[in-house]
Amino acid sequence: MKKSARLIGLLLSLALLAGCAPQKSANETAPETSGAAVDYSQPRKAVETEQALSDIHALGTSPDDNYRTWYEIFVYSFCDSDGDGIGDLTGVVSKLDYLQELGINGIWLMPVHPSTSYHKYNVSDYYAVDPDYGTMEDMETLLYECEKRDIHVILDLVVNHTGSAHPWFQAAVSYLQSLNGAEPNANACPYLDYYFFRKEGGSGYSQVAGTDWYYEARFSPDMPDLNWDSESVRQEVADIMAFWLDKGAAGFRLDAAKEFFSGNPPKNQEVLSWLQETAVDIDPDCYLVAEVWDSFSQIADYYNSGIFSIFNYAFGNANGKIISVIRGAGNPPVVSTYAAALEKADKAYRASNENYIDAPFLSNHDVGRITGFCGQDANKTKLAGAMNLLMSGSAFLYYGEEIGMVGSGSDPSKRAPMVWNEARNNGTAEPPPQCILPESYPFGSLETQKDDDGSIYNYYRRLIAVRQALPVISHGRTVAEAPLNVGCISGQRKTWGEEECIILMNIDENSAVVDLSAYAGWKLAASLSANGQPITMEDAALNLCGYGVAVLIPAE
Ligand code: CA
Repeated sequence: MKKSARLIGLLLSLALLAGCAPQKSANETAPETSGAAVDYSQPRKAVETEQALSDIHALGTSPDDNYRTWYEIFVYSFCDSDGDGIGDLTGVVSKLDYLQELGINGIWLMPVHPSTSYHKYNVSDYYAVDPDYGTMEDMETLLYECEKRDIHVILDLVVNHTGSAHPWFQAAVSYLQSLNGAEPNANACPYLDYYFFRKEGGSGYSQVAGTDWYYEARFSPDMPDLNWDSESVRQEVADIMAFWLDKGAAGFRLDAAKEFFSGNPPKNQEVLSWLQETAVDIDPDCYLVAEVWDSFSQIADYYNSGIFSIFNYAFGNANGKIISVIRGAGNPPVVSTYAAALEKADKAYRASNENYIDAPFLSNHDVGRITGFCGQDANKTKLAGAMNLLMSGSAFLYYGEEIGMVGSGSDPSKRAPMVWNEARNNGTAEPPPQCILPESYPFGSLETQKDDDGSIYNYYRRLIAVRQALPVISHGRTVAEAPLNVGCISGQRKTWGEEECIILMNIDENSAVVDLSAYAGWKLAASLSANGQPITMEDAALNLCGYGVAVLIPAE
C-alpha cells in the first residue's frame, strides 16, 4: 500500500475514534459507525483512542528536522523526584514517557544553570547545573534519554545579561571598588569590557556599591547587561554554545533578544545574525528561536537577521491574533480575519527571510495562561490549542496547557506546579516555595483527564498526532482559501511541494454545514471535535460542529 493511502486510512480511523466519523468521502468507503447516540455528559474512556494514536506515531512521518512540536518546561514546577519540594531534572526524566505519549518531539528547558533566583534567569555559571535541579550527570541523563526518544532539547540561552553573582561581574565590581576613585585600566581587568559601566546613573542603571560607578541593568539590579560590542563576550558565548551542543543540546531559545542593545533593532539584528552563524558553524543541525517580544512589523523586520525562528507574538499571548479571534467567536467579520492574517504574516516573514520557521505559541512563563483568555471555556480552550498547533513552523506549548491549567497575574501564578494529580502537587506534599497554586482547576488534573476521551488532554493528544502525521501542516505555506471563509468558518490552504491540505475551523458555538461542491477530489483526512459532537462529510457537505476543526487532503 502506498504510504499516503495508509496514512489516510489511519487518519480516518483516528477521526472515527475521536467521535467524528467521516462518511462517504470521495472514493473511499467510510468506516462503519455504530450510529448509537453517545452520552457526552459522562466521562468517556480513552482506551479506544490508544491504537489509532500509536499507529499514527508509528508512521514515523515526524520530520527529523527543526519543524517540531515543542513543550516548554519550567523545571522548578514540573516534577520533583526527591521530595524537597522543588522540581528537578530527574523529575523531568521520569515524565519523558508521558511527554512521548502526548506526542511532542521537542523540549525547551527554561534555565537550568546556577542562579540566585527561583526562575534562574540570572545565571551565575553557564557551564553547570543548579543544585536545586540536580547534577551535570542528571543533565546528561536527560539529554541521553531524550535522544533515545528522538526528542530534541533546546536550552534557554540567557546572554542579554548575566546574574550579578557571575564571576565576570564580581571581578569587574571588585576591581572598581579597589580603585578608590582612581581611573580604571582596562588591561588590569578584562571583565570591565563585559558590561556597560559609566559614571552616570539614570533609568536602567544601578550603582556599584561603594563607588561612583553605575552599570546597565535593564531588568533588575541582579541582571547586569552584557556588552555585545565586546569580542571577548562573543567568544564566551560561542564557547558556551559549543559546550552544550557537544553535550547533546539541539539548540537554544534566545532570551530577551530585543534588549541586547535596548531600543536599537539594527544592532540587535546584527547580534542575532552573529549568533545564528556561530551556532550553525558549530552544529549545522542546531535550532535557534529568539524572544523578540514586539509587534508584528518588528518581528517581520527582525527576520532580516537571518535567525531561524522568532516567537510569534503577533498570534500568541492575550493581545495576539488567536485570542482576538476566539473572543470574536460567532462574529463573522472577526472570524474572517484569521486566515487572512496567517497569509499576511507568512508573506511578511518570508519576505525578510525566505527560510524562516515560524514559532507560534499561546502562552509562556511570562504571560497569563490561555485558559483564562478563553474565559475558562473548554471548547474555546481546545480550539485555541488547535489554532496554535495547526500553524506552520515549530509550534510551542507551555507545560500544563494540555490540561487547561490556569494561572495569571503574578509570575509565580503563571509558573504554578504541573497538576499531575488531584493532590495538586508536583511530586511532594508541598508545592515549590516560590510558586502559587491556583485556587481551582476548572478541568481537573491529568489523573482525571487521562481516562476521559472528551478531556482537553485527549484533545491535545489527537491534535498533536494530526500535526505530526501530515507534515504539510508544519511545513506548508498558508493562504486564506477565499471561497471557504463564509460566516463563522475559517478556511486556510497549505502547500508544501506537491502536498496540500485545507484546514477548516468553525469559530462559533453553533454547528455549520460547509458547501464543498467546488472541492470534488478532496477528502476529510482528520477532524477534531471540541464539544464531542460529530464532524461528518457527506458528498459535498461538511457538517462541522461548533468549534470543530476539519483537515482535508486531495484524494490522490
Ligand atoms: Ca527536587
